[in-house]
Amino acid sequence: MTFSHDVQHALGMVVDLVNTAPEGADQELLPDVEALQGFVADHVISDVGPLTDADLEHVRALRPRFREIFLAEDTEHASALVNELLATTRLCPRLTNHDGYDWHMHYFAPGAALAEHLLTDGGMALAFVVVAGEHERLQTCAAPDCRRVLVDLSRNRSKRYCDSRTCGNRLHVAAYRERRRAAG
Ligand SMILES: [Zn+2]
Ligand SMILES: [Zn+2]
Repeated sequence: MTFSHDVQHALGMVVDLVNTAPEGADQELLPDVEALQGFVADHVISDVGPLTDADLEHVRALRPRFREIFLAEDTEHASALVNELLATTRLCPRLTNHDGYDWHMHYFAPGAALAEHLLTDGGMALAFVVVAGEHERLQTCAAPDCRRVLVDLSRNRSKRYCDSRTCGNRLHVAAYRERRRAAG
């Protein structure tokens, strides 16, 4: 896939964020502000001030809005949802090379609260996927009892399962069975 590194990074953030919701993870993975701080650190999100319960509430509320886009049945629907997201935020495109990263774009307004930051840069990354004609790469896990979302960035569009341990293993087991079937 030819998305730029920062777009891929933002897409990974969106996927991980959606998958912290009890709907996908079976339990709340952002139970408190400390967990949110951990999420921010894990995803190297810049320009984040001290976080509060309001930040936690607003970030949690973003998840179903992002999830919807992974469930969109066609590009038209996905586009409408991305537009709805981006219409609720301020965009401030600029180049930056913070923290030793190469030059890349930031879209959130300087000083934006964390939820707005994530909405803006996540929303733009999703917009680039739609623009590239690749909306179908936004998926939900193919495992029947899994509701996690994923972005398929593989060359041959072969990713079907999320990265959780259970589903990842399932993929290996399925591949193994297939090889055995082919061999036998
Ligand atoms: Zn950055
Ligand atoms: Zn899964």
